[in-house]
Formats: sequence, C-alpha cells, structure tokens
Amino acid sequence: MGVMIGLEVHCQLNTESKLFCGDSSDHRGKEPNECTCPICLGYPGSKPVINKKAIEHGMRIAMALSCRIADEMFFSRKTYFYPDMSKNYQITQYEIPLCSNGYLTVGELKVRIRRVHIEEDPARLQHVGGDITNAEYTLIDYNRSGIALAEIVTEPDFTTPKQARQFLEILLSILEHLGVYDSEKEATIRCDANISLDGGERVEVKNITGFENVEKALNFEIIRQNGMKRMEVVVQRETRHFDAEAGNTKSLRKKEYEEDYGYIFDPDLPTIRVTAGWLESIKKTQPELPDQRVLRFVKDYKIGDYDAHVLVYTDKNLADFYELCCRKYGKPEVVAKWTMNYLLKSLNWRRERINNSKVRIDTFVEFLRLIESGKITERFAKELIKEYVDTGESPAMLAEKGAQELSDSDLDVVVEKVLQENRKAADEFRSGKEDALKFLIGRALAATQKRADPNRLRDMLLKHLNASIAQ
Ligand code: ADP
Ligand code: MG
Repeated sequence: MGVMIGLEVHCQLNTESKLFCGDSSDHRGKEPNECTCPICLGYPGSKPVINKKAIEHGMRIAMALSCRIADEMFFSRKTYFYPDMSKNYQITQYEIPLCSNGYLTVGELKVRIRRVHIEEDPARLQHVGGDITNAEYTLIDYNRSGIALAEIVTEPDFTTPKQARQFLEILLSILEHLGVYDSEKEATIRCDANISLDGGERVEVKNITGFENVEKALNFEIIRQNGMKRMEVVVQRETRHFDAEAGNTKSLRKKEYEEDYGYIFDPDLPTIRVTAGWLESIKKTQPELPDQRVLRFVKDYKIGDYDAHVLVYTDKNLADFYELCCRKYGKPEVVAKWTMNYLLKSLNWRRERINNSKVRIDTFVEFLRLIESGKITERFAKELIKEYVDTGESPAMLAEKGAQELSDSDLDVVVEKVLQENRKAADEFRSGKEDALKFLIGRALAATQKRADPNRLRDMLLKHLNASIAQ
C-alpha cells in the first residue's frame, strides 16, 4: 500500500468584490474589519448575491484541469460553530461542485482532480501569545471573510511529499497564467494535506502555507506515523496543525466527518445554469497556459526546453519580464542565459521575486548591452549583476564606478597583499614554476570580486615579482 497523499488546495480568487457582497476583496493597507458589511457578517435580513466573475474564474480552472463542468450547480450551507464565520455557517458547494473528474500531470504522474468548488473564505484569526493550540487570546479580522475561494481537491494519488510539492508548483503557475489568482496579495494559497500509511486511517494536516512547508509537514507525518506503527499504536483519523517553526504537527481534533456538518441547500441563492454559450465565451478567452507557453518559447525564441521550463514555471512575472526584454533587446538566447542563470540566482539569494525587486526592463537591457559592446567582460558582469540586483542602479554607472575604483594604485595594494599572503606561490614562481603565476592571478582576481581585468593583474604581478627579484 505504502504512502497515500491527497491535497485540498484553497486559492483566493482574484475578483474585485467578495463572493456574495460588494465589499472589496483587496484589504491591503486597510484596518481590520474595515471591508465588511451586513451580508458577509451575516446580519439577519441580509441577502447574498453571487459574484459571476468568481464562477467564471472557477470555470477557467475547471477547463485548465480538464474537468467536467456541471450544467447546474447551487450553493449549500455548511454549519459549524467557530468564530471565523459569524453566520455560523459557510456558504460552499457540496452536493454538486462546479466541476469534477479532471487531472493534472506532474512529470510521469497523472494526478486525478476529484472536484473544484467555490466557497467563501472564513475570517483570519490571529492567535496572540501562542499558536492555535495554546494562544492567550485570539483576534478576528473579518476582512477576509466572504472572499471567493476555489477549493481544488485531488484524489490520493501522490506517493511522496515531493510529488505533492511539484503538483502545487505547477498548479500555482496555471492559476497565475489564468489570471484567477493574484500572487501580489497576501499568502493566498493554503493547503490541507491528507496522508495515510499502508491503508491505515488518514490524518489531515490543516492550513499549511508555503509549498516547502507542505513537503516538510508530510515528511514529518511519515516519520511520525511510521514511529507509531513500530510501537503498534493505531493511527486514528484526526486533524492536525503544522507548526512551521518547530517543523512538527500537533493534534487539533479527532476528525469529524462531512455528514456531521449537516449541509443544507442555501435558499437565498439561485441555482446556476451553465449554458453552452457561456462555456464557449469562457473557452474563447482562456489565456495561454504554462505548458503552451513553454512550447512557444522553445519554438519562437529557440531556447532549450529546460530553460523555457525554468523561465515559465519559476514565476509568471519572470516569464513576462523575459518576453519584454526579448522584445526590447532581441537575442532571446542571450536574454535567457542571463535571466535564468545569473539574474535568478541573485534574486533567489535575496529571497526576492522579480516584481518586488529593483530590477527593471530598461536597466537589465542596458546591462546586456554593456556585455555585448565589450565594455565589461562576462566575468565582471557576473559580479556586477549582484550589485545591480542589490541597488537597482544603472549598470553602466555601476560599471564605471567599479572601473574607477580600481586605479593602478588600488591594484598595487591588492597585488602586494596577495603576494604577502601567498609567499609560497611567489617563491615557486621566482624559482621558475610558471604555474604559480596563474594561481596568483586567480587570487588577485578574487580579491577584486573579479572586477579587474586578468591581463592587467598579470602585468602588475610580474612587475612586483620582478622588482622583488631585482632587490
Ligand atoms: P472529506 O470529505 O472527509 O474531506 P474526502 O474523501 O473528500 O474526505 O477526501 C478529502 C481529501 O483526502 C482528498 O484530497 C483525498 O484525496 C484525501 N484522501 C482520501 N482518502 C485518503 C487516504 N486513504 N489517504 C490519504 N489521503 C486521502
Ligand atoms: Mg474536505
């Protein structure tokens, strides 16, 4: 039997207003509880109205995941008592989801998508003085309550935590390309991970943010459940919480079953009929998906399949950046080389994504032109790019500053220091070992962060070495 893993992914949909009312679904910079109204707070007499855009976003997801879209669907009330929903029920889809029976391939693995449904997001709870299991008190912010979510549920088709993570990365890229998800907003993708070992009961780890954490939480569960098995303790069905700081999971509650929620049809909302015309209009305006984009990159820009994958799947904004640079500069292979290797490395090192970095198309193209014109060596460019990503300043100015900084007397100092620190190599050279010079040049180059021209360093080193022989 082995390991079985299934995911439930919640994605906030990129709609202007919430799922059933006119409140803004973008509460960045707002006070807590500012984006609320009688509808999303569930005051008596208030009536919800369905946001058409949310349903259409759901339809786009359905098409991208090759699902069957229901002809008719409706919303139900999932009743539970917890302060993150002030109505004491969540409006969701249960009996008939927006769509079902799709799939997404991850490498060799075909992951079946059981269903995708639309529901409202609960409020954000902020646990103060501890986590959910031991906080002193909890603050509630209803700004998030009522924002449209798509819940994407897979079959338990994963056998390793790594596959689950890869699936999430591909799914995220699809959602970004569909434009149904805005990565600039809060951490809007949350995931519940279900895992069972050897046909045993499954454990659900709730509300994990970050794909790395999904993998970590699942790896932890495999170790924990295997440990239980060795001690002959039976794993029970339960809901657990992942503590990202401690890297472990803690029990929240023995899992309730779906039937326990007493779903009822929401009488305030109409049945939604999906006509052929409506489907057709969505299909016609479906954006390019990441896989199609990879193929187009390979064909139009003549770059390798691997490079195209990295550019497209790392971050949609990076792929957009790449295309705009190509348009401005030409030479797509050159742009790809510098974007996916050195630019991406510098961004990753700073834990930045292209859109919240200081990198701009104009200045990056300026950087590429400096290399092309021979004004800077590639070797120097690899150093310069770090400074450019750090500061966002004009690469031409940075390069000039760098060149100025390295006057002859600067190099004198560098070379003198290198010779002192590497006396053995210096003596070897003096006694006729030519290779020692190469070593010394390498040292001097490193000491200038590779900015200096190696030939200049060579001359300088020879000057110093000869001077010391003459003495
Ligand atoms: P519920 O309705 O109680 O939430 P579901 O059957 O809908 O349970 O499944 C929820 C999630 O649990 C799905 O992602 C599914 O893939 C996963 N799952 C179901 N059975 C198992 C299992 N035996 N091991 C691991 N995951 C499972
Ligand atoms: Mg569920």
